[in-house]
Amino acid sequence: MNLAAGLGGFLMGVFEMPEYDRHEEVAFHSDAGTGLRAIVAIHSTALGPAAGGCRLWAYPSSSDAVADVLRLSRGMSYKSALAGLAFGGGKAVIIADPKRPKTPELFEAYGRFVNSLGGRYITAEDVGTTTADMENVARQTRYVSGLIRHAGDVGGDPGPQTALGVYLGLKAAVKFRLGRADLQDLGIAVQGVGGVGYHLCRLLAADGARLFVADVRAAATERVAGEFGAVPVAASDVLHQDVEVFAPCALGAILNAQSIPRLRAKIVAGAANNQLALERDGVALHAAGVLYAPDYVINAAGIINVFHEYYGVSSEAQVHAAIAAIPARLTDIFERSRRESRPTHEVADDLARARIAAGQTRLVA
Ligand code: NAD
Repeated sequence: MNLAAGLGGFLMGVFEMPEYDRHEEVAFHSDAGTGLRAIVAIHSTALGPAAGGCRLWAYPSSSDAVADVLRLSRGMSYKSALAGLAFGGGKAVIIADPKRPKTPELFEAYGRFVNSLGGRYITAEDVGTTTADMENVARQTRYVSGLIRHAGDVGGDPGPQTALGVYLGLKAAVKFRLGRADLQDLGIAVQGVGGVGYHLCRLLAADGARLFVADVRAAATERVAGEFGAVPVAASDVLHQDVEVFAPCALGAILNAQSIPRLRAKIVAGAANNQLALERDGVALHAAGVLYAPDYVINAAGIINVFHEYYGVSSEAQVHAAIAAIPARLTDIFERSRRESRPTHEVADDLARARIAAGQTRLVA
């Protein structure tokens, strides 16, 4: 059942929410049989079908879920625009407890919901969902990517590719801010060592970085400590380590009025989406002399991977070439920020909006 028609009063609230940014469509869906409650936000289809992952999370309220899907979908529009992909921006959230078992039927019901949108939204995995879940989605719709990868294919779990893009972007930030071309003995704190953070640590450790890691799952930090010699720190302390770089790879809104004054790193470069709690937090970072790598620019390799898989016309070399363009894009944003004395997130937002307005894409299907 699509709930939009029955939620007139609630939808009035959506239009007034600060996160609402002239989104083209917000669709609500519930499925009595499986208990699915999902929301899809389509921010823009100006450059192509709206694409973005599906987050499964125990949102405290449906308003929190709506706020999250609105912000995340706008971020996807900007991310694909700056990466030069012929994708618009969309996102989905499923309101459910990630600690409880997920059934194939839940994702099949979600797949029918995605299918009902007729290809205006293409889904993939995000926090709380996996390639296996997307295989269940794919039983009901072809508007899905991030499926299990078979020999000779491109795509699959985007986590390792996202980590590669973040690693290259982090090195560009270190070069720009610290004037260093290597990471030997450089202190880096990584928050969240899951699908992306684990692979980021692997790449950073291979370059000789000194890693400090935190995760709310003890097993995840123990694994990274054992395999890469990282030092585990408490989740509450990871933001304030005496390091050069802070790499947020967990959830969003971690850069805020409380955390920024205590941040000791000179660079923030990580995978998490929506790292700034508010726009003004990007201004505060800039004022404090912290170089912030805009999240949707540095973490674009995941959607690049999804794009190439979805259209199925690319080789692994083409995917890597697209990912290898991330550091130069970031450096351009850093240089403009310095030249114009403006925060990096404002520079990136302006560039993305201009591209969407002009209908500019380079990598077309
Ligand atoms: P994940 O769920 O695999 O890993 C996130 C990790 O963070 C988990 O291990 C979790 O236990 C940990 N965590 C949660 N809250 C924490 C806290 N307060 N302190 C420390 N650790 C905490 O997710 P992922 O795929 O690795 O994605 C990480 C982030 O990167 C997310 O914000 C995601 O939206 C973003 N991102 C991911 C991709 C991708 O390809 N997977 C692409 C772009 C952006």
